[in-house]
Amino acid sequence: MNNQSISKEILYWYDNNKRILPWRKHLSNKQKEYFILVSEIMLQQTQVKTVIPYFNNFIKKIPNLKALSKINDKKLMKCWEGLGYYSRARNLHKAAQVLVDSYHAVMPSDFEELQCLPGIGFYTAAAISSIAFEKPVPVVDGNVLRVFTRFWGIYDDIRHNQVKTMLFHKLESYIKEAKPSDFNQAIMECGALICQPQSPSCMVCPLQQDCFAYANHKQAELPVKSPAKTVPTLDVVVGVVIHDNQLLIAKRPDDKMLGGLWELPGGKIESKESPEQALQRELKEEVNLDVCVGKKLVSVKHAYSHFKINLHAYECEIIRGIPVALSAIEIKWVFFDDLKQYAFPKATIKIFDWIAVKKKYSFEMDSKEQIAINNVLERCYKK
Ligand code: SF4
Repeated sequence: MNNQSISKEILYWYDNNKRILPWRKHLSNKQKEYFILVSEIMLQQTQVKTVIPYFNNFIKKIPNLKALSKINDKKLMKCWEGLGYYSRARNLHKAAQVLVDSYHAVMPSDFEELQCLPGIGFYTAAAISSIAFEKPVPVVDGNVLRVFTRFWGIYDDIRHNQVKTMLFHKLESYIKEAKPSDFNQAIMECGALICQPQSPSCMVCPLQQDCFAYANHKQAELPVKSPAKTVPTLDVVVGVVIHDNQLLIAKRPDDKMLGGLWELPGGKIESKESPEQALQRELKEEVNLDVCVGKKLVSVKHAYSHFKINLHAYECEIIRGIPVALSAIEIKWVFFDDLKQYAFPKATIKIFDWIAVKKKYSFEMDSKEQIAINNVLERCYKK
């Protein structure tokens, strides 16, 4: 297959098989640029099917660059709640402010210039420049790496940047002969739908004719990817502190991971500490409270990119002190039914969901759990 026939085959396949996605709708240029910007930032480290409902909600609430540039942090975090990697939302907000202040709300189309905006790196700039503006810049994401290491029989470790750089330059000559937006999206779509990591659907693949992996039965060997480093697991303890039927929540500092999100006060269990001791220490350091730690309510698990956490929630009774934001930047007493107005990390939402489910199906609890959760429910829901 020469350059032209590779492009022809894959574009023909894309025309007939592409998914209908909200950012692929027929839109005005201005809308299209904004939709591509938002979707590409959301798609960083997140799969298409996860992004779709978040994207739709975001666009409904924040329909254009000007609205995004003016949004306050609370609303922004609420729109991003649950999608993770919250620095993406902050960078997107900053990028919108730069675009409105310095570019008259017009996105630059240039690959290099786009990389000067907050949160837009090499990959995202390539995607925006090609998909929104038809610039001939190849996008090399995980899907593209998989398709072409198999297609060309490349055995270099795809964790190494040299492979991405090599493919970027190799694909430059192909994209010049095609419609850049469709070319990039077609390869990514082929990787997502056909050339999947396990059991690729080679029989219906537009690249089958000249594919090295298909011809040599090497699909399972490619791409070569060295094992990921094992991520540590942290045990974190949080307190369910209730006063006057309201729950105490604390806001994380902006410069920390999950910055600006609200959470139940607490923190990491240090070595040689019991969960109860850790919780007493953390609540003193974070919100200036002396507490008596009661029964454990629930433990939930959550995985972040560089570590995993086991989050243990305990009922806590204030013994002494008035809550003050010390290591937290802000604290609030909130009725359980009003929690939805605040943005929380996914692990904390799992605790709230558990409480809500237990409220609905209280008969499923054992007696110890029953007493603890009843305590919380009675006090949280009684206004
Ligand atoms: S023929 Fe199979 S291995 Fe080759 S690119 Fe297509 S799906 Fe991937």
